[in-house]
Amino acid sequence: MANNKVFLSLPRLSGNEQKYIQKALGDNWITSGGPNVDDFENDLEEYLGDGISVAALNSGTSAIHLALILLKVEAGDEVICQSMTFSASANPILYQGATPVFVDSEPDTWNICPEHLEIAIKERIAKGKKPKAIIAVHLYGMPYKVDEIQVVADRYEISVIEDSAEALGSSYKGKKCGTFGDFGVFSFNGNKIITTSSGGALISRSKRLKEKAIFYATQSRDEAIHYQHSEVGYNYRMSNVCAGIGRGQMEILDSNLDAKRQIHDFYVNLFKDIKEITVFENPSLEYDSNYWLNTILIEPSQKVTRDVLLQAFEKANIESRPLWKPMHLQPLFCDYPFYGNEVSNDLFRKGLCLPSGVNLNDQEKGRIKRVIDKLCEVA
Ligand SMILES: *Cc1c(COP(=O)(O)O)cnc(C)c1O
Repeated sequence: MANNKVFLSLPRLSGNEQKYIQKALGDNWITSGGPNVDDFENDLEEYLGDGISVAALNSGTSAIHLALILLKVEAGDEVICQSMTFSASANPILYQGATPVFVDSEPDTWNICPEHLEIAIKERIAKGKKPKAIIAVHLYGMPYKVDEIQVVADRYEISVIEDSAEALGSSYKGKKCGTFGDFGVFSFNGNKIITTSSGGALISRSKRLKEKAIFYATQSRDEAIHYQHSEVGYNYRMSNVCAGIGRGQMEILDSNLDAKRQIHDFYVNLFKDIKEITVFENPSLEYDSNYWLNTILIEPSQKVTRDVLLQAFEKANIESRPLWKPMHLQPLFCDYPFYGNEVSNDLFRKGLCLPSGVNLNDQEKGRIKRVIDKLCEVA
């Protein structure tokens, strides 16, 4: 069917999800936590290696929120956040009654700029408040400048929350994303590299922090035979049924990553002779993006602009979407401090996300190619 919609990113099933869900149903373990959750955490811990600890939660947003809580971010504190990201990176700062301070991107990785980060920290300290945490994001799976950001964080002794929601399977200098920050965050939403329908994980380097995260995620129950609470709790634990999906998904993580990289090669090839369009690529061999979504920048010309391309895809029933709109330009966040210039704004104006689902087949690639060929004919 030529007219089926081509989506940006749809999940693919291994076929074994049923088996693990069935096990949860068969065990009558249909609540948060449980054997599938333990096993899914083990799968992820094995995948990440290095003695990393994983707490499975009901979303990536919950994981960011719990990271802030574990770092003792409170009302009135300031938290630095990459401006160019999805709102889920920044919303938990507001949940804590803290103030987000946004920092611009740099052009190599589109992620938080180390220079503007340091300027921001210095100025916030001069104004009387040292930021409590830095939320850096591996946008579209592209690792941020990990070493450069860590140097700045270490210099001022500020903790890093590594928003790796889009970057499961990416690596920087051979080490897996999600394992760099004081806390790492994954999302298993339906559009991510693997899914649990809805889910997330908080990554840390100690069993103690993992246990503490699970404590907060399960209503902060003190050890007692009755229900006893001395801290605010949350209902953030992953469900045993969802974790069953995750177990099945872990079996195809590697093949999903292969598929994503093949789709990336397709786009590199497709746009190689179009001078207005650049495909976003690893800036050097140190970076290994999972290419969760393939993105392009369009230098506006008489022939093509971002919106012309978006409309051409839409007419062909192919989904494409502008990049994340930076947080400092959002009605919700525009009154908070911002450090930087026009990098993220420029990316937002010129950028487009393209279909990158691991199911993308040759026929759909052909349809995408025809849209581009037609656009070039007009020239
Ligand atoms: C998806 C996403 C999140 C949030 O994950 P959920 O599981 O949807 O709550 C956070 N940050 C970024 C950058 C994301 O893309």
